[in-house]
Amino acid sequence: MKKYDAIVVGAGISGLLTALAISKSNGGKNVLILEKEEHIGGACRSYNVEGYTVDTGPHIITQLNDGPLRELMTRYFDVVPVFKPHGKYYVKINGLTKEFPWTVTDWAQFDVIPLRDRILIIQVLFSALNASLITPKKLTGVSVYDYIKNYNFSESTLRFIDTIAHFLTGTSMYDTSIFRIFDWSDTKGMQKKVTSLINFLFREGARDQAYPVGGIGSIIDAVVSSFPDGRVDIEKNTEVKRIIIENDSVRGVSDGENEYYSNLVVYSGFVSELPKILDDGAIATEYTDKLNSITNVLSLTIWLGLKKKYLKNAGSEILVGNSSCTGAWAVPVTNYDKNLAPPERQLIGFLFKIDDKDIESAKKRTMKFICRHYPSIERDIEMIHYQVMIPEKSVNNINQIIPSHRTPIRGLYLVGTDTSKKSMGITRASYSVVECLNVLEGDGFLSRLR
Ligand SMILES: Cc1cc2nc3c(=O)[nH]c(=O)nc-3n(C[C@H](O)[C@H](O)[C@H](O)COP(=O)(O)OP(=O)(O)OC[C@H]3O[C@@H](n4cnc5c(N)ncnc54)[C@H](O)[C@@H]3O)c2cc1C
Repeated sequence: MKKYDAIVVGAGISGLLTALAISKSNGGKNVLILEKEEHIGGACRSYNVEGYTVDTGPHIITQLNDGPLRELMTRYFDVVPVFKPHGKYYVKINGLTKEFPWTVTDWAQFDVIPLRDRILIIQVLFSALNASLITPKKLTGVSVYDYIKNYNFSESTLRFIDTIAHFLTGTSMYDTSIFRIFDWSDTKGMQKKVTSLINFLFREGARDQAYPVGGIGSIIDAVVSSFPDGRVDIEKNTEVKRIIIENDSVRGVSDGENEYYSNLVVYSGFVSELPKILDDGAIATEYTDKLNSITNVLSLTIWLGLKKKYLKNAGSEILVGNSSCTGAWAVPVTNYDKNLAPPERQLIGFLFKIDDKDIESAKKRTMKFICRHYPSIERDIEMIHYQVMIPEKSVNNINQIIPSHRTPIRGLYLVGTDTSKKSMGITRASYSVVECLNVLEGDGFLSRLR
């Protein structure tokens, strides 16, 4: 059996980006990617449904201008996807649509929330900002709700705050860390924090966000087109069932029938599932217990193909929740690329957080919620497609555990969204790849040959 310079487990965006970088490092390396599904891309994929190109959930890429994905594209991509700016965020609340209030002035004018609550929210934001700059340790483990509970906000304001918490982290205000509101995980030094503070006070946020023309899968296509000739093999329908370890060092992996050999294995599946493919006793239980305690949440996406344009503006809408639903995010992808739908049609992805207990009733409840926000939409639905998926391998909650890229087994490394604290989604996946490559470089894996 052929021996590879590296084996990557999983062909999602993290695994593919890692394989690309390794394959191009130090004069070129031979990399094998093993993917359990019949397609590559993982949670970052596009496919056709009745003439519409749907993504695996609505996606907008954050920090595109100078974030980690840009860094990887500049360093390793031969073909770079075309991105269209996201536009504005709108909030749909009490039958009205308003621009998202980014700045203090916006808040003052955000009259869908009672004046008293608006004044208090500005006060809370200033106080949290101040604390996160001066005494950040005091905020560790503090949820958004912990921080605001003594302000006696009205029920509708609490709903708004809870919807925003879900939007930012996928979990409720009871579980979202107050730090998340500012997302400074990737900012270093006082200067950058001061800049963030000025942005928060005076500038509209989220201006470096975008959607890729052709759908989210076009990022995957660009990675694959950038693989150097003959350096990267991809085996689909191949689930890694065992990591082969000898003398505390990795030797390869097995799918139950075949063995594949390398002294470097990068695992990009759910880290919480890694213990299942390690032999008993291969690793300390303390470590596997930590991995087992990583949690995630479930999402439902409803894709609607519509005969009429319901979202006219460039940008997406945050639908504030009610007693039956924690809110939703609506992304009209055809506003960025009309070719994702048949002529004159609009394609919108609606994202909800759900419980896994009763998915069928969640579908009915969330559909009703959409109809409440867009009263005549039902009669214009031409295509409806549901997706139940886990949006983040490790939810950004106050008790979040993030394992390091280096494992206790020599030559076995972790990459993927559950191995980085920074940002969310594809940006977080890209951070994890950049960080993992630095660790591999430091450990001498990118320069040494087999
Ligand atoms: C509904 C939804 C909405 C989202 N919205 C956004 C957004 O707006 N912006 C954004 O940036 N991101 C968003 N994301 C998140 C983003 O898609 C993911 O964070 C990212 O794609 C995860 O990439 P990954 O490679 O770390 O993991 P994955 O995509 O999960 O890839 C892991 C791969 O490993 C394979 N695998 C696992 N175990 C094995 C094994 N034992 N053997 C072989 N193969 C294995 C899996 O099949 C999978 O293909 C969203 C995701 C969803 C689902």
